[in-house]
Amino acid sequence: MIKNKIFLFFGPPGSGKGSLSSMCVEHFGWKHVSTGDLCREHIKLGTAIGKQIKTASEQGQFVSDEIVAGMVADWIIDQKEVSQDFILDGFPRTHKQAEMLDLLMKKKLQNFQLVLVKLNINSDLLADRIVNRVSCSNKDCGQIYSTSAVSKSRPKVSMVCDKCGSGLVRRSDDSIEALKLRLQAYYQHEQEVVDFYIDKGLSIEMLNGDQSVQDVFEDFKIVLQKYDY
Ligand SMILES: [Zn+2]
Repeated sequence: MIKNKIFLFFGPPGSGKGSLSSMCVEHFGWKHVSTGDLCREHIKLGTAIGKQIKTASEQGQFVSDEIVAGMVADWIIDQKEVSQDFILDGFPRTHKQAEMLDLLMKKKLQNFQLVLVKLNINSDLLADRIVNRVSCSNKDCGQIYSTSAVSKSRPKVSMVCDKCGSGLVRRSDDSIEALKLRLQAYYQHEQEVVDFYIDKGLSIEMLNGDQSVQDVFEDFKIVLQKYDY
């Protein structure tokens, strides 16, 4: 039996997970959920979870594993057809979240297989990329661009989205200081999550994230052949 797939994209903030996800959604019709988007959505809607997230982030704390896992589980269960391949972006971020996903898969997602994909990236390139990163202000579009003069992802017209014509915005948390903190926190946990899956006998597909998103996508398509794409 061919199983549906859940793709777990690993890589620090700014490694290109979002861009790669957008291309996969566009080319393969997969669904995509990022914990960052879910958090922002809950804050915007003012839900109980949103209020807890807001408090945690105002106090400089991370949102608890239970809250994050609960949000992701709700999203998965809310999908009309839980029979489609999808990408989890930013989840699981800790060992505990990986255990929670494991449990959810045993209960609700027995016909799914995990595919683990890690974007490796050089730290200096990453800092440069993040400082230059802007995204479309139209929530339904969300296309990501770079303002770097040498980037292939530069918008045709400065600060205007090529796809929908909306204005582009810089992400507020993309200062170097915030970046360093987020990276530190990210790497603390990435290894424990990766080890969790290696212990389970899964392999990790490595992609060179220092390339343009188009090249990363081409490499990814080659990896996908192993999974019957
Ligand atoms: Zn747009």
